[in-house]
Amino acid sequence: MLQKSKYENSRFFRARLYAFAVYLMLLLAGGQMAYHTITDDVERQVKQNISNIIEHMDSIFRQVDEAGTYINHYTHLPCTTLRRMMMIRTLAIPSGLSMDLKLPNGYCSSIDGFSLMPIHPESDRNLYVAKGYIQSKALIYSTGSITTELSEHYFLDQIDIRPYFMHFQIGIGQLVLTMPNEHANLLKGMTIASENYPYSISVDYDIGLMLKDLYDELLITALFLLFFPLVVSYQFYKFMTLPRFLAREIRHGIRAGQFKAYVQPIFAQDGSLAGGEVLVRWHHPKKGIISPYEFIGLVEQGQLAARLSTSLFAQVTRQLKPYAHLVRHVMHLSFNLSAQQLFDRTIVYDCVRFISNINNDNIKLVLELTEREQVTKEERIFEMYNELYAAGVRFSIDDFGTGHSSLIYLQMFEVDYIKIDKQFIDLIGQDPISNNIVNNLLDLSQRLEIPTVAEGIEQVTQLQYLKEHGVDYYQGYLFSKPIPLEQFISEWVINPQPAQLPISIAP
Ligand code: C2E
Ligand code: CA
Ligand code: CA
Repeated sequence: MLQKSKYENSRFFRARLYAFAVYLMLLLAGGQMAYHTITDDVERQVKQNISNIIEHMDSIFRQVDEAGTYINHYTHLPCTTLRRMMMIRTLAIPSGLSMDLKLPNGYCSSIDGFSLMPIHPESDRNLYVAKGYIQSKALIYSTGSITTELSEHYFLDQIDIRPYFMHFQIGIGQLVLTMPNEHANLLKGMTIASENYPYSISVDYDIGLMLKDLYDELLITALFLLFFPLVVSYQFYKFMTLPRFLAREIRHGIRAGQFKAYVQPIFAQDGSLAGGEVLVRWHHPKKGIISPYEFIGLVEQGQLAARLSTSLFAQVTRQLKPYAHLVRHVMHLSFNLSAQQLFDRTIVYDCVRFISNINNDNIKLVLELTEREQVTKEERIFEMYNELYAAGVRFSIDDFGTGHSSLIYLQMFEVDYIKIDKQFIDLIGQDPISNNIVNNLLDLSQRLEIPTVAEGIEQVTQLQYLKEHGVDYYQGYLFSKPIPLEQFISEWVINPQPAQLPISIAP
């Protein structure tokens, strides 16, 4: 796999950052949702339990009320009769222990019969907890002249319910009835009062038991919470690193005119200008000027090569057109093409439009086909080539000797120029093996009888060597770096200068 450029790495880094942010967000949102779901669930369960208890306790008090109403009809009867009636009614009430009735002259009890003293301690409240007559503790409930003693155990049984992490209590006045407390670390829960009788039911939670009880649910939730965002953020990362997506910023930059045409002049053997190669530079609003080596891979993966070319053709046409008539000697202008553009008719339209707009036969349009990309012999490519050739477009093989495609290009097309890549120029004057490689390559291009262009010439010795070996055209920092298109037009079209080569390369 090709090494990623700094720019590509920055895109991948950003994708990772975003994916991580998505992971965190999902984790937080999921955690919060799970927390609410679980607490809502517990709360709903608690409310249900409490309203069940209240409903049942209320029904008991209601039965006591009914018994009282019934007995009140017969207060004129003797206590012996009343006692029997009260005993029967008491037994019919779940939790009922005893009942006594206040008479004008004393008290009548379902257990003891008549007495002058009250059997249950009197209170100003109609429901309270007292040391009972039979039980050690009992609930005393009075309605009017009737007082009923109810079993505390019965009520305690009502609150002895699952789940065990809930600790229920019955609140009556200041007093609280509850099961013996085995709970530790109680967390305050809720309290609901009966709407009909003066008591309330409350619940607290035992955190330890609660976690134990909810363990399975919590475990599954936690696993899901960790796993689900992981899957989603991974998918998100995959999406963000799709070539289409990685190239998003480039697509936007092309549209915003951030990709500027530069031109590197190319010279002939007599030192005159032979033409120039159009090379793109990204004027990034934040990162400054970015070299094509940084982004051309993403342009190709993102299927944006055609759009980039169209933008460069448009820039060159727009800026050169007003001065094109000043070009009185042949000048080659070459554009770089990615292999994928050979399958896209856009390039045909771009070239035809360029030629007709520039409208000067001295300006020759050349397309550089790079060897680095693999091409296949296809009818479609051949058709496009013919169409372009007929329109006056010429072709050169770029990076000659570095890839495998030159043979295919040479077989399919009539190639007008061969560009010898910088990496071979760099070998000049090194060790004998390197020299052999360069010699063979120069030899091969000469035998093909196709004019050669050497690129990346930085040293005078390289230039001399190439001159001796019959290379036809020269390009490199030794003469000029790629310069902005407007500078090229001003220096080489509007005010053409005499040969600017550092040494005379004319024979
Ligand atoms: P390339 O077509 O091989 O272009 C030659 C590269 O060598 C250019 O790099 C040029 O600036 C650089 N160069 C020329 N002379 C010298 C020199 O003396 N010393 C050094 N160190 N470098 C020299 P650049 O402009 O960075 O372009 C890099 C590559 O990006 C180009 O390689 C070409 O393949 C691609 N490219 C540039 N513009 C376009 C474009 O518009 N479309 C497509 N598809 N590819 C492009
Ligand atoms: Ca090139
Ligand atoms: Ca090259």
